[in-house]
Amino acid sequence: MNESTAEPLQRGNGPGATARRRFLLGGATALAAVPLLGSSRAVAEPRSFAEPRGFAEPRSIADPSQPPVPDADTPGPDEALQWLVDGNRRWVSGRLLHPHQTVARRLAVAAGQHPLATVFSCIDSRVPPEIVFDRGVGDLFVVRTAAQTNDGLIQGAVEYGAEEAVTPLVVVMGHQRCGAVTLAVDVLNNGTEVPAHLVDVVEALRPAYEAAAPLPGDQVENTVRAQTRLTVDQVRGDSLLAPLIAGHRTRVVGAYYSLDTGCVEFVLP
Ligand SMILES: [Zn+2]
Repeated sequence: MNESTAEPLQRGNGPGATARRRFLLGGATALAAVPLLGSSRAVAEPRSFAEPRGFAEPRSIADPSQPPVPDADTPGPDEALQWLVDGNRRWVSGRLLHPHQTVARRLAVAAGQHPLATVFSCIDSRVPPEIVFDRGVGDLFVVRTAAQTNDGLIQGAVEYGAEEAVTPLVVVMGHQRCGAVTLAVDVLNNGTEVPAHLVDVVEALRPAYEAAAPLPGDQVENTVRAQTRLTVDQVRGDSLLAPLIAGHRTRVVGAYYSLDTGCVEFVLP
């Protein structure tokens, strides 16, 4: 860690400073327990800009025996989900295809897009949807907030993905050792203060905190899962999305991402 990276974590010793550091670090225990996910990237590094032009999608970079990745023009909800499951398996195994990450793909989708899913997930730097599902440009609508907290503006973005971009799948994804949830649990357990709009994040997580409070086990993990469940309920109950779901044009699923294994578990199918 160089000085410029370490410096922001040393700022501030006022109220909420400890909680803020946990938010930034992704939970107090994360530093010791989380292996560097960058290790799996070493299997297949991005190619250079000298990549051949043309619209043929390169198939396998790391493992020529891998099947081709289908294009995302008109998948149904179940097909879209299967593609994400398959992409996540590649991420877990390290046998990545890096589909749709070429100049040719950029040109192909410049005039229009048909993303296969809307992913609503956390801002955490360790959980980038395109990477953990091994997808590329034009494949995913991505909405990210702290602990996938929601409000009208954000719900509008999810609606836009499903209604206007016609994504057949919405994935609400929480993750292991979520820093925002760790912050909220700390604040709500201990009555500590947080500054500025972090209060809004904590308050948005209060329903999940209260739902998880009676449960045995790890309070942060229980709150992460409660937040995912409540957000799935919110999205499924959306007045614009509910008819799409009833008509099987869109499917909304809940997921949990493990920082340790890279695996996405679809907990609310
Ligand atoms: Zn998080």
